[in-house]
Amino acid sequence: MLILHMLLNEFRNHFHSALTDHYQKSEITAFYGLLTDFYFQWPRTFFILNPQYQLNNEELQKLFFALYELKKFKPIQYITNESHFYGRSFYVDEHVLIPRPETEELVKWVLSDFKDAEDHYNVLELGTGSGCIAISLAKEQCKFNIEALEVSEAALGVAQKNALHHNVEIDFIHQDMRELEVWYKPLNIMISNPPYLQPDEKKEMLPNVLDYEPHLALFTPENEPLYFYKKIILFAQSCINSNGCLYLEINPKFEEDLLTFIKTATFKDIEVRNDIFGKNRMLKAVKS
Ligand code: GLN
Repeated sequence: MLILHMLLNEFRNHFHSALTDHYQKSEITAFYGLLTDFYFQWPRTFFILNPQYQLNNEELQKLFFALYELKKFKPIQYITNESHFYGRSFYVDEHVLIPRPETEELVKWVLSDFKDAEDHYNVLELGTGSGCIAISLAKEQCKFNIEALEVSEAALGVAQKNALHHNVEIDFIHQDMRELEVWYKPLNIMISNPPYLQPDEKKEMLPNVLDYEPHLALFTPENEPLYFYKKIILFAQSCINSNGCLYLEINPKFEEDLLTFIKTATFKDIEVRNDIFGKNRMLKAVKS
């Protein structure tokens, strides 16, 4: 579509009416603010002060493209290639999950447990995706020596890009967590937000997640909700030091089964915490 000129208030009205069947009004307003800030760094008052601003061709192209993608339920983070996690900005694309606020709470848990760390700790993350967990830990706690595994080469590239941007040293390793048995050195901390959704949960999922986020990072095999947890727990049991800690993001629907399983392994002090939405979302276990 070739639109040569449009006033800002005309575009804003068009943006709202084009998305009204897709999103709530408050979301549309938030998208509009986010896009105009991201593309042009306009403060939120720009529109109020300049409703008659004549959008140029380049500006219109960017806005119309974003609008077209939003109509298809593409998450705004994949449109701008930017997401925020633990106070920092991360590059994201469709090879990695969009970082979730629940996962920030898992990071917070680790950091508060090790806030007074004097020694160095070996930390391993399984399935790092965008790298947001490993990078946030590295930025916040200089005593952590961090390694992070990822099966998807494309995701690994995203994590490396983010680590470079945030100027942290993390050893990223291209490795499938399903094939892990032993690790070459003892670990103090293991952390993971593995795939934990059941394929039959697809019917409850919104198109912005289901159609765009990588299924490799979301879903367990059919009828095996604990598939990745079992692998991780057995691996953790063999390579975490005595009194070392395992931190997991969990699927609230299978918390009981997970607890039953982890109790058969050599862990003690098992604790489950709620996320901000009140769901049992995180588990910590200490190696006996
Ligand atoms: N928290 C994600 C969701 O609900 C799932 C993340 C995962 O499978 N690890 O969409």
